[in-house]
Amino acid sequence: MGSNGSADLLFVNGAVYTVDAARTWAQAVAVRDDRIVAVGADADLADLRGSSTEVVDLAGRMLVPGFQDAHVHPVSGGIDMLQCDLHDLDTKEAYLDAIAAYAASHPEEAWILGGGWSQDVFPRGCPAKEDLDAILPDRPVFLPNRDGHSSWVNSTALELAGIDASTPDPADGRIERLPDGSPQGTVHEGAGGMVSRIIPPLDPETVYQGLLRGQAYLHSLGLTGWQDAIVDRDLIMDNYDAYLRAGASGDLTGRVVGALWWDRAKGLEQIDDLVALREGGTSGRFRATSVKIMQDGVCENFTAAVLDPYLDESGQPTDNRGISFVDPEVLDEAVTRLDALGFQVHYHALAERAVREALDAIAAARRTNGWTDGRHHLAHIQVVHPDDLPRFRELGAVANAQPLWAAHEAQMDELTIPFLGAPRWTWQYPFGSLLRHGAQLAMGSDWSVSTPDPLEEMHVAVNRQMPADYAYRVDNRDVFLPDERLDLASAIHGFTMGSAYVNHADGDTGSIEPGKLADLAVIDRNLFAHPADEISSARCLATYVGGDRVYAAEDA
Ligand SMILES: [Zn+2]
Repeated sequence: MGSNGSADLLFVNGAVYTVDAARTWAQAVAVRDDRIVAVGADADLADLRGSSTEVVDLAGRMLVPGFQDAHVHPVSGGIDMLQCDLHDLDTKEAYLDAIAAYAASHPEEAWILGGGWSQDVFPRGCPAKEDLDAILPDRPVFLPNRDGHSSWVNSTALELAGIDASTPDPADGRIERLPDGSPQGTVHEGAGGMVSRIIPPLDPETVYQGLLRGQAYLHSLGLTGWQDAIVDRDLIMDNYDAYLRAGASGDLTGRVVGALWWDRAKGLEQIDDLVALREGGTSGRFRATSVKIMQDGVCENFTAAVLDPYLDESGQPTDNRGISFVDPEVLDEAVTRLDALGFQVHYHALAERAVREALDAIAAARRTNGWTDGRHHLAHIQVVHPDDLPRFRELGAVANAQPLWAAHEAQMDELTIPFLGAPRWTWQYPFGSLLRHGAQLAMGSDWSVSTPDPLEEMHVAVNRQMPADYAYRVDNRDVFLPDERLDLASAIHGFTMGSAYVNHADGDTGSIEPGKLADLAVIDRNLFAHPADEISSARCLATYVGGDRVYAAEDA
């Protein structure tokens, strides 16, 4: 390849899927310092092997660009792993056993925190306070579910928060109630905030350890970069300062864009604060250059913003159209100003009215500011009205897909489809349609809502079926909306170049090309050489960021 000097690191004998514009395959990759210097056939790169070159024989395994997650919460995910973690369990009894065991082994903790329970385990998705009261009669418990939109609390927590039968629902949430009006034990959306706000903030060291734990987990899955979907100083945990510290110390090995939290209780006046946070928000591999606007909730608790009302249990229309967390007029102005200031807007836009409002606000920004390079993106996009599919391309709005959710499983079949009704339920996760309409697709996990393993997520993106061994309750093995399946190449592109694009990192990462940073993942098999329904069986064996190995499987 005509380079002078030998490589520091040389991968040979592999199935190198470069994800370059031509979707080139190669056998070998040479790295010097933190960059890729050559990509090609083994024979072409043989000259770069020197006496001090570390040679990695891939033995036919797959080398891909390091995966990037366009919407993830690694700090809270990492903290969850350190607290009462319910994610891997799926019965009420198992949850209660785990909570009791955690409480017994952490007598010093004033609150029992953690979470990760699944709504499909409980009637109507709502666990009851009595079950917690039986094991924790006097220590408060606050346990968000997997998606973080509903929380399970005991009577002590409700009392401390001052919630009783006379407490009205907040504007942005709902207290689940018994027939007599008293709280039932599940609080949704903003009603969860009525409890969480009285929880003492986590100490900075715990937050920092959570970040490092989360990062290590992401690296073990081949992830080398991500967009943290909520970065804030004012929440229960201050992850902004944790990132600054990790960036400065060098502990932050992943490349991270932080999405600063838009406080929906405030208005446009907060933009000055966001500018200040961005100014102070660059540290090592961390940059806080995005703003997260949460425009609606989720379908399962009827807070996602829909155009036509939700149906009730007998299929009749209710009068509930969900919640637009930010008034659309305010949203237009906020996005226009953020766009003009060079911010990226990262939306939580889940159902079709929120998606439309989010796109309308980008359209408003384009009218005022012209075309910018904000790369604004809509995360979740669970329900998209067909009329809005072409608008992603027209507006340069990136579709930020969380593909793991695009399958028949209990939460979809029991808590979502009946209440959306036809034809609306068929508008869900329209990834194939978005691609056919020319949209740019990025991908992410929303961990700790669900697994951050890109191989499991790509499995569902390609098959629209849960992996056979998946922990969720899956009775229905039908392919979910088969026309919306993606080909494997598109799914890999989403988790590499697509997400790199969202992070404004596509010039330096996202593909294996000379001159780019050596962010790489070794997968145990060539995914293209195996049946599509085995994608989730593959696993990451090693991960490199800037040529440094940040993960190696113990048995590899
Ligand atoms: Zn999220």
